[in-house]
Amino acid sequence: MKKLINSSLFRQSCYINGQWVDNAKTISVTNPVDQSVLGTVPSLSIEQVNDAIIKAHQAMEGWGKLTAKARSIILRRWFTLIEDNIDDLGRLMTLEQGKPLQEAKGEIRYAASFIEWFAEEGKRVYGETIPQTVTSNRISTIKQPIGVCSAITPWNFPAAMITRKAAPALAAGCSMIIKPASETPFTALALAALAEQAGIPAGVFNIVTGESRVLGELLTKHELISKFSFTGSTQVGRQLYAQCASTIKKTSLELGGNAPFIVFEDADIDKAVDSAIQAKFRNGGQTCVCVNRFYIHDDIYEQFLEKFADKVAKLRVGNGLDEETDIGPMITARAISGMAELVKDALAKGARQLVLGHEIVEQGNFINPKVLVDVDDSMDIVHEEIFGPIATLIRFYDEEEVIKRANNTIYGLAAYFFSKDIRRVYRVAEKLQSGMVGVNTGMISNEVAPFGGVKQSGLGKEGSRYGIEDYLSVKYLCIDVA
Ligand code: NAP
Repeated sequence: MKKLINSSLFRQSCYINGQWVDNAKTISVTNPVDQSVLGTVPSLSIEQVNDAIIKAHQAMEGWGKLTAKARSIILRRWFTLIEDNIDDLGRLMTLEQGKPLQEAKGEIRYAASFIEWFAEEGKRVYGETIPQTVTSNRISTIKQPIGVCSAITPWNFPAAMITRKAAPALAAGCSMIIKPASETPFTALALAALAEQAGIPAGVFNIVTGESRVLGELLTKHELISKFSFTGSTQVGRQLYAQCASTIKKTSLELGGNAPFIVFEDADIDKAVDSAIQAKFRNGGQTCVCVNRFYIHDDIYEQFLEKFADKVAKLRVGNGLDEETDIGPMITARAISGMAELVKDALAKGARQLVLGHEIVEQGNFINPKVLVDVDDSMDIVHEEIFGPIATLIRFYDEEEVIKRANNTIYGLAAYFFSKDIRRVYRVAEKLQSGMVGVNTGMISNEVAPFGGVKQSGLGKEGSRYGIEDYLSVKYLCIDVA
């Protein structure tokens, strides 16, 4: 932290109603590289979070009345400040989350892009006129900010999961209270420091930290909150969704995935291999759209495997601040023991682990990338989210069979496949049960496209022109002109 250019970005207090707020009770935040303590954040009391909600409700009044253009100008300032502070924000993120510095900076750019995008989209929130059924009636709709919004976000994308929610909410005229993951609150608080500097009015953007169950109860059940947005595991999402039912809140859920990556016999193998590396090992495999299952056609299986294993063997594991690092530490040791269980089950059921010759000794939160072959659908690793740098290769023989196997999961977030046959491209893309499909690419996330899942991967879309709709309510006006 001492190496930050702008040390004011390192905040150990919550940001509520334009004030930096503390509490005697705190939570320690550690560096996943060596578990050293980076700092602390407050574990807020129920009363403090309740106060944040009341203040956000009061602040919405003025913010919602501004013109979309006025809000856009302020959001644009926030975007510019984030871009200007990218080196510090990237460093903060690597320190608390572990991802390689270049990836962290990439996430900051991605996070900022949502603010830029929604600053513009806010100006294009149109109502409509509708042909009447009674001659004297005139029917139209207007869109209004939905109200105070709350959000709970995960540790794997400490900046982007915040701006993907806050930017559309603020652009629509709502205020927002966000609880970041306890592992990665400093990136969130740095974003709040820049929001303050950008002139976002007090109470419009708030960051609260503390015990997740306690804060989660308030953020999902409070009557002054109209909308709740969550990104995290399906298990926690299911519980929070139920909590929202008590006050019938509008809810968006971006949950877990089990992405298949299918390589057909007519694919460009080199391209598929390069994309496989990106789609599997980005953020050390700790990404909701990361590949969980590689289905490779029998005709090209050996060819793909050889090239893929060769590239995996070259991935370097280490401290994210070292320039050579491709894979940083996992977020917790618990995450590694979960993966070890999945590997154990797969090996017991007949999978084989390739020897790739990585030099680093596995210790602490560090784990070498692994490739498992001879994997089949009886193994837990095929059905559960791995969330780490372990690739599982499965052989398949025909199109119908692989679609059926790819869809055999409760999840439906991302899917990828590689083929040069345009007829197959449409056929397979239409049949895959997932909210997003990458065809001949492993990189699908950007601010202009609708991100979101089907089945138990979630509800709603983030980013794109759809992303702002969740923060608006449509009011219908029926006017008798007789
Ligand atoms: P997680 O355990 O569900 O935690 C996510 C957030 O929920 C954290 O802020 C956590 O707070 C909070 N939380 C946990 N238990 C809670 C409870 N009982 N009540 C209220 N809040 C609670 O997930 P994670 O391990 O951080 O993140 C990984 C998961 O997120 C994966 O399944 C991944 O696929 C998913 N994800 C999905 C997307 C997407 O867009 N679909 C994007 C990124 C990640 P504390 O940290 O304070 O406990």
